Amino acid sequence: MEKNYKTIADRYNEPFNSNFLIFLDSNSLSGTSETVNKYEQELALYFKSKFALPLSSGGASLLAALYALDIQPNDEVLVTPICPLCTIYPILAFGAIPVFCDTYEDNFSIDIQEIKNKVTTRTKCIIDIPMWGYPINAVALKNTANEYDLPLIFDLAHAHGTLYESRFLSEYADISCFSTHSRKILSTGEGGFLLTNHSNLYERAKSFIQYGYMVGNNFGLNFLISSLQAALGIDRLKKIDENLLKRKSNANYIINNINNTDIKQFNIVDNGTPNYYSLLIKELKQENVSHFIKYLKEHGIPSDIDRYKCKPIYHYEYLKKYKANCPNAEKLITSFTTIPVHPGLTQIELHHIINNINAWSRYL
Ligand SMILES: *Cc1c(COP(=O)(O)O)cnc(C)c1O
Repeated sequence: MEKNYKTIADRYNEPFNSNFLIFLDSNSLSGTSETVNKYEQELALYFKSKFALPLSSGGASLLAALYALDIQPNDEVLVTPICPLCTIYPILAFGAIPVFCDTYEDNFSIDIQEIKNKVTTRTKCIIDIPMWGYPINAVALKNTANEYDLPLIFDLAHAHGTLYESRFLSEYADISCFSTHSRKILSTGEGGFLLTNHSNLYERAKSFIQYGYMVGNNFGLNFLISSLQAALGIDRLKKIDENLLKRKSNANYIINNINNTDIKQFNIVDNGTPNYYSLLIKELKQENVSHFIKYLKEHGIPSDIDRYKCKPIYHYEYLKKYKANCPNAEKLITSFTTIPVHPGLTQIELHHIINNINAWSRYL
């Protein structure tokens, strides 16, 4: 076997320069400065949301969202098991209970029928997670959430720019939570934000992330983002469209050049458009997927499935007591791998990826 492949970077480290410092408000570097206010306005504008709230992490955005919805101990949250621990731990932080609902066979949406089966009087909200930026059935979810009068949260940490019927996924949710960790599409090192069109939810979340304004009427903690990160966010938000376009063009280039009939792109739900946080491809014979992932890794093409040892989240020790029967999710998470398509890829790397996918044989 050939050796000495340089491993392809699995994420994009955006070129770093200090131009962003021009956005700093010289009077304050705190999380309540003019710089953070400006970042907030820019986020709301870009994502077409009435309100945006920058904060210290994606996890903090989930905590603030759940607090805004007045989540209480033993409340139930309907959520799919295909998500990272980061989506579930904020639920546990409030003493609430994740109730795992199966996905569909071929996409990451919560199965609507599962919502109907598992909703109870204690259900507080629904959280769905468009993993790797692949769209989910936003309209069906919104309609179902409305039918049961349940707030809908989307964890869009992977999904900046993912569309459903040409609109951002966030436009369908009551609250959307984002991370801007350095592995995410919009990156401030550490950081996050939430979006909502509801002024009452925005006000509650905003108070929560700054100790309830320290007046002692409401609970709160400190999840403010610093001005430095906000300044970086303002700068990088200007380049997000370019970043997304490059990902789309890289993904299409790979897809259009795959001539190996054993490999197909992951299903894209009707009316949905991925942001290509990653490109997902399937080895059509499920039993070959792990071998395929190992083969790609040996050729310097990394996979999140290998990196994170992805499995339905209730298999982790800490979450075993919430285990549910989710046969579709069990199958789905072992049916594909992730391929990097970020803007940092060179033409040589793109060809390296294509050539190795095309050279894959189940009998290697
Ligand atoms: C990264 C991520 C988070 C957590 O974001 P942090 O900024 O690291 O707290 C939450 N959910 C998903 C789906 C993520 O990918």
